[in-house]
Amino acid sequence: MTESPDAFEKRARAFLDAHLPPRPARTPSDRVALLEEIDPEREAGTLRAAKRWQGLLYDAGFAELDGERADAFAALLSRYDAPDLQPLLVGLHIVAPAIRAHGSDDLKRRYLRPLLRGELTACQLFSEPDAGSDLASVRTRAVRDGDSWVVTGQKVWSSGAHHADLGEALVRTDPDAPKHKGLTLLLVDMHAPGVEVRPLRQMTGGASFNEVFLSEVRVPDADRIGPLNGGWTAAITSLSSERAALGGTVDAVPPDLVERLAEQARRRGVLTPAARARLGRLDAALTAAAQVNRSAGLDPAAAASISKLLVNRALALAVEAASAVLGPSLAADLGDGDHAWAEFLLGAPALRIAGGTDEIQRTILAERHLGLPRDPR
Ligand SMILES: Cc1cc2nc3c(=O)[nH]c(=O)nc-3n(C[C@H](O)[C@H](O)[C@H](O)COP(=O)(O)OP(=O)(O)OC[C@H]3O[C@@H](n4cnc5c(N)ncnc54)[C@H](O)[C@@H]3O)c2cc1C
Repeated sequence: MTESPDAFEKRARAFLDAHLPPRPARTPSDRVALLEEIDPEREAGTLRAAKRWQGLLYDAGFAELDGERADAFAALLSRYDAPDLQPLLVGLHIVAPAIRAHGSDDLKRRYLRPLLRGELTACQLFSEPDAGSDLASVRTRAVRDGDSWVVTGQKVWSSGAHHADLGEALVRTDPDAPKHKGLTLLLVDMHAPGVEVRPLRQMTGGASFNEVFLSEVRVPDADRIGPLNGGWTAAITSLSSERAALGGTVDAVPPDLVERLAEQARRRGVLTPAARARLGRLDAALTAAAQVNRSAGLDPAAAASISKLLVNRALALAVEAASAVLGPSLAADLGDGDHAWAEFLLGAPALRIAGGTDEIQRTILAERHLGLPRDPR
């Protein structure tokens, strides 16, 4: 018998009451960062807490909920002080979906549950210095040797690679095939000999990205995701899921963004009609983005691209509003909480790039969903 919405809510509430304290009241200096600047010690604590919390969610059946239940659970969860699952998101929403859709039964058995329970963390090793938007140009080579592949190359912008157990690597296995056809997706053990992770410092101050150098890293063929030279299709599964679950959702934006900006403007006496209109436009853009995610009948992949574009438009409006309200006090930390917004401003451009840039989303929508003529290649 399926559980009624009321029974589900009751069960969810009892679970959350048992495991989490209520969310503390917000203060003006609470962080609004989009890419958190986090020191290694705090990061290790966040990772431990995320793993523990994800294990509890998984074991209680709250880790993978469908649309309505996911919304109901998220609404309840927002009232509690829950651990941040950020360090696990690549494993949960990028790597696990590709293994589920394309992996062998053996691969699913070995990795799906540990990834979904948060026991294993993962990173995405797709981008390279000369392969970002044009991802099919990846040059990292994998050469067959008995039951294994020997992988050599350089990846870049690898979020969370410094604490990842696994890396989902798009590699070239047939250099003579047309570029989309010579690629394979491999699951690399990030602790294997030959894997070197070097942090990249961001303008927000933190270092959540890395360069990853792969020097003759051995990867068993049993850890291949999908068919040999069929890596492009498997990679698209990861990219679509990434857009749907991460880059393209309003969840990336602090939930009370408009309210907080209005509060700042009121405090400074600059909640003018022009400021109100600006905040109104921001609210409308965020509402539109949230609605697209819920629209029935819209192709989920198209919805993800549209939603990502709308979220990014909202972020641009938020940056404009925050700059107008806070002005020069964004530049220096005077201990009044305003500096929290500097992290927001500096992190916003990243979301326009991550998971495929805005220009690429428009091309995807035009070519794949609207059937418009293809961009010249
Ligand atoms: C927060 C964040 C996290 C990331 N995490 C990861 C990760 O974990 N793993 C990973 O592999 N990568 C990651 N990336 C990298 C990301 O996927 C790439 O940065 C992105 O695909 C763009 O590639 P690029 O940086 O090489 O820019 P380029 O592709 O060089 O693009 C430069 C500019 O040219 C434009 N452009 C390029 N091609 C076209 C075209 N055909 N038509 C119109 N305009 C075009 C782009 O829109 C952009 O404005 C991350 C990036 C960010 C910002």
